[in-house]
Amino acid sequence: MKATTEEIAATEAYERSIEATVTEVRPEGVVLDRTVFYSRGGGQPGDTGWLRWNDREARVTDTFRQGGQPVHVIEGDPPAVGTRVGAEIDWDRRHVLMRTHTALHALSGIIWRDYGAKVTGGNMEPGVARMDFELESMSGEFGREVEGKLNQELAADRPVRVEFLPRLEALEDPDLIRTKVNLIPESVDPIRVITIEGLDRQADGGTHVRSTGEVGAVSVVKTESKGKAFKRMRIELVGDDRSP
Ligand SMILES: [Zn+2]
Repeated sequence: MKATTEEIAATEAYERSIEATVTEVRPEGVVLDRTVFYSRGGGQPGDTGWLRWNDREARVTDTFRQGGQPVHVIEGDPPAVGTRVGAEIDWDRRHVLMRTHTALHALSGIIWRDYGAKVTGGNMEPGVARMDFELESMSGEFGREVEGKLNQELAADRPVRVEFLPRLEALEDPDLIRTKVNLIPESVDPIRVITIEGLDRQADGGTHVRSTGEVGAVSVVKTESKGKAFKRMRIELVGDDRSP
């Protein structure tokens, strides 16, 4: 049985690079014994970056999960199995994704708290995101109103916490029930939970910033009705990168 890749991003979102060993070379890409790269999922794109070995360098253009393992998609010839490599993510891109992802969670918390609407889906690219939610109707002022609340919550600099909860405990947490924790495959235990203190709590595999202040300002660029109880909102980061 093959060893599972140690995935650093699950606990240490701020780690940018690591030394690792190539454990597999597949037609799609390279598997490492440990990695700081995030595999695309949960609406967050996979990381890009570089692998370096000896005097060589290969660009990583995507990271995705295949058979449970993160696969680093690379341009050009891959390093052979057993090679020691330096693996480094494109931190500027990743940090923008962390800010974008955290903004989506804050938005989700507000939409639930103030409008009683559940979030049904979402997707993001660096600096831009979309969220779908179950709301019967929106006023013309809805977008501006939500934007004001969102920026207020972000500016409150609420801490963002990562924790791992035993599955049975997670299934009984009211906030996690709301975000459909029961749909997570039964084999997943413990369950990773992201909490924005006082605002939002959800089971999530993605990477987030440490506190909402780091997101900076956000603009609601569009609200659309896609049908009865199906509304869509698009947001964009417009503030400064407040990275440490
Ligand atoms: Zn998320």
